[in-house]
Amino acid sequence: MSSARQNASRDELGWGHQTHSPELRAAPPLPSPRAGELELEADLGRSPAELAARIDAARASFREDPHGSLVVAIETCECAERDGDATLMARARALEGHVHLHRGDIRRAMARSLDAERLLGRPDRGSSAAAASELAALQAHVAFFTGAYAQALACAERAVALADTTAEQDLRLFARRCAALVLGNVAVPGFDRRLDETLELALAAGDLWELALTHNDIAVHHESNGRVDEARRAIDLAFDLAQQTHPNAFALAVVHSTWADIDLRAGNPAAALEHASRSLALIAAADQPNPYLLGASVRAEVVARMYLGEYEHAQRAGESALELLGDRMPHTRSMILSAVAAALREAGRPEQAYDMLLRSAELEREAFAEITELRLSLDRAVAQARLAHSESHALAAKNRELARAHAELERRAGQLEQLQAQLLDQADRDWLTGLHNRRYLARELAKPAGAGAATLLSVAVVDLDHFKEVNDRHGHSIGDRVLVRAADLLCGVLRTTDVVVRSGGEEFLVLMPLTDAEAALHCAERIRDAIGREEWGQIATGLTLTASIGVATTACTQDLEQLIRVADTRLYAAKHGGRDQVVAA
Ligand code: GH3
Ligand code: MG
Ligand code: MG
Repeated sequence: MSSARQNASRDELGWGHQTHSPELRAAPPLPSPRAGELELEADLGRSPAELAARIDAARASFREDPHGSLVVAIETCECAERDGDATLMARARALEGHVHLHRGDIRRAMARSLDAERLLGRPDRGSSAAAASELAALQAHVAFFTGAYAQALACAERAVALADTTAEQDLRLFARRCAALVLGNVAVPGFDRRLDETLELALAAGDLWELALTHNDIAVHHESNGRVDEARRAIDLAFDLAQQTHPNAFALAVVHSTWADIDLRAGNPAAALEHASRSLALIAAADQPNPYLLGASVRAEVVARMYLGEYEHAQRAGESALELLGDRMPHTRSMILSAVAAALREAGRPEQAYDMLLRSAELEREAFAEITELRLSLDRAVAQARLAHSESHALAAKNRELARAHAELERRAGQLEQLQAQLLDQADRDWLTGLHNRRYLARELAKPAGAGAATLLSVAVVDLDHFKEVNDRHGHSIGDRVLVRAADLLCGVLRTTDVVVRSGGEEFLVLMPLTDAEAALHCAERIRDAIGREEWGQIATGLTLTASIGVATTACTQDLEQLIRVADTRLYAAKHGGRDQVVAA
């Protein structure tokens, strides 16, 4: 078979740059799962750092131990969920996705990729660069295997860039290993340089498994560019390195498969068959073989057998591989069939080749339908996730707006309350002097006597003497100023617990709680004195002023009105007694 066709198929399937990951280095040991079932032993006691280290180790070894890695991923996801650690959950989900894809289960891989994406929120602002890089690497492979090459490239580059923001050598290697599949198959310029970079990282890490797989990729790159000798040197190195690691079945299967292709290109079908058979034996030992690797090795075997004239055998090999693959991977099955068809044609068996091509075409159609459907469902799922995201963003924005509006309303309500209180207070106060007014007094009087009512209280009724004359002589506005000043004087000589009310035009009522008769008398005298001694001449030339005061005291404030009436009577007495005096008991 022509190497051009061979490389085209290889590129379509991408197995030649198959992603490989480092074998366990000083990583914690993985659980050895019981055959065929997942024995979940969720360990409650693990710290977040221990759980993350387990994911790191499983990520490094999933190609050699997919089952064990899957167990770790599922267990860790459970622990992380319990801990409410969305980032670790996303890492575990992404790893599950990588394992599923490794086994050829694109649907499951896609589902896990979406889970991880949702867990990380918007992929470009993932809370952890490691999680975001691992997710981007998975998205790159899912996109690649569903034919979205531009997206695959973008994701691969993002995975590497994100990994490089961390100082994690293993992660940087992992991202490059995943990216190599896409970059190699899309044949980006400068791919050699990228391989050298990966080689340097693997060397620095002293990671034999990674080194082996990088040399394998270098061999593939040389082989597909027709450089057989360079390819041989690289694959020799890859083989030596792979042999030194353990477990290494997958790495060796990859190396033998590449070797078979190199031998075919070098025109040595017998050696190619030998390598393809070794690769297939290693693949067959895995419980769920990697379909891309299987497809590539079977194709090499079929082509080698055809060259050797073993037509029947070649056809049988192709058929049994198809059986093994089942209907899981139409794409891979079609690759095998077209390899057999091409070999049959070259062997001069056009009818059989035609049959094979018919079946191959049928499978291609199936593959195309499946991949189209997968892409559609992926696009739908991504669109849904984006929609859910933007909806939740819109909701959050609405909520913020509501909260702002609510705060504004509260502020206004507070202002209104304040205003209301001010208005209420204003209504209770005399506009001229600012003292409490009759309205206030009436309300206080109307209040039922409470528990605190049965206490000592004195009242004083203060009336300015001959005030009418002040107005008459100096005018009403001077009278007003006198009233304001008199109110100030009253407040100035009283305690803050005392209440002064302007009860009438030039009449004030002073309520003095917890004040006995003697103290009240003193207080009243202080008021009288303050008014009598004030320099009223400053307000109007020749102005003098006195006040008469009636004082009453009770030990039991049951009837405030009655108490005021008594004080009033005493005020009258003070007026009749010649004014400018206090009348108490
Ligand atoms: P007496 O010593 O008996 O209390 O004499 P009097 O003149 O103070 O008492 P009378 O009740 O005869 O007069 C009170 C005066 O107070 C009458 C009124 O014009 C004046 N008056 C009442 N309210 C105000 C006010 O708000 N501003 C001014 N400028 N005068 C007021
Ligand atoms: Mg008066
Ligand atoms: Mg009066």
